[in-house]
Amino acid sequence: MRSVFDDSDSSDNSQDFDLDRDFPLGDGTADTSGVVSCPYCGEENTVSLDPGSGEAQEYVEDCQVCCQPWRVTVEYDSEGGAVVSATALDE
Ligand SMILES: [Zn+2]
Repeated sequence: MRSVFDDSDSSDNSQDFDLDRDFPLGDGTADTSGVVSCPYCGEENTVSLDPGSGEAQEYVEDCQVCCQPWRVTVEYDSEGGAVVSATALDE
């Protein structure tokens, strides 16, 4: 009565990795938030990211805890993963 499940039927999933392909910004796969530690108070902050603004971004944002301004840098890798860092603005 039971049908046999054929796990090998995934021929449509071609492993065609090409780093020069379109960056997956804005198609739902890029990170839209990241966590950084405040350079002033050391508290972790979850920051909202805008993948549509490019794969390398830099802007000023205030700490949600101590309100000191950071220079935030965001870099996306080819899979849409965001690397976020914050440094003190006045350095
Ligand atoms: Zn802070």
